[in-house]
Amino acid sequence: MNAFEYKRAGSVGEAIRDHAGHNGSKYLGGGTNLIDLMKYDVEHHARLIDVTRLPLNRIEELPDGGLRIGALVRNSDLAEDRHVLERYPVLSKALLAGASPQLRNLATTGGNLLQRTRCYYFYDTALPCNKRQPGSGCGAIGGYNRIHAILGASDQCIAVHPSDMAVAMRSLDAVINVEGPKGKRSIPIADFHRLPGATPQIDTNLGPDELIVSIDLPAAARSTKATYIKVRDRQSYAFALISVAASFDGAWKVRLALGGVAHKPWRAEKAEAFLAGKPMTAENYRGAADAELADAKGYEHNAFKIELAKRAIVRALNEIA
Ligand code: SF4
Repeated sequence: MNAFEYKRAGSVGEAIRDHAGHNGSKYLGGGTNLIDLMKYDVEHHARLIDVTRLPLNRIEELPDGGLRIGALVRNSDLAEDRHVLERYPVLSKALLAGASPQLRNLATTGGNLLQRTRCYYFYDTALPCNKRQPGSGCGAIGGYNRIHAILGASDQCIAVHPSDMAVAMRSLDAVINVEGPKGKRSIPIADFHRLPGATPQIDTNLGPDELIVSIDLPAAARSTKATYIKVRDRQSYAFALISVAASFDGAWKVRLALGGVAHKPWRAEKAEAFLAGKPMTAENYRGAADAELADAKGYEHNAFKIELAKRAIVRALNEIA
């Protein structure tokens, strides 16, 4: 690992000023992905600004019945929170499907949104990767691509986003509140993560000095019927080949999002539209799944994920119905 400077921030304002004032700065939360990236020589940062002591670790009720989750709430605390269990069970289920108890005890809500792909080529600095080194090529296209994207990929990158939590949040239309040198703004999760396009090195639309301070879950997404299905090579401590977050919201609208399929948590809008106004039948579940995956594209080793995703959608709909 390369040498770096360590600084602990005493306030949000101080953290942002420090970050904006020094090239090569990076905010440090739980560090469960960032420290690996630095150890593997994938990322190099001259200065880490530790934000873990900032007062951003509370879960508060919003006046309209939604929830505001501090960016530093640990994944394990979020999964067991009473309000999350009662109002957004899909989020709790997704969190508990991710990583290991030890990692969940350390990982933060904000950091989880920012974790980077687990594409093997991204972590191996001897191999080409447009995300790690723009213009070097994509080792996975034409290489071993079993875990890679089937939706929304580009000829530059076919990586997938690794988070389970973010898939549930995408199904719930979460809103990410950030602060930076230019002030505060709120980013709908649909606009937070990016598809790779011609710039796979950029994962999100977060500004360079902006800090995630909280995440809002809207009251309209509250539900009691929910499931999170995660299909993976191992029953625990493995990333999703395919995952499905599914719930009925207060208006009995189906909310569906997929993980393991794209560079961002994928809202299954076509499947939701297909189901609107239709009875919950096996035939309609399959129709919704076929509609969502109609434009899917498989590569040499991951084409199986297209049918796997369809079956996982059908199973998820069966479970919530
Ligand atoms: Fe890099 Fe993306 Fe290709 Fe993986 S899929 S090697 S992250 S460019």
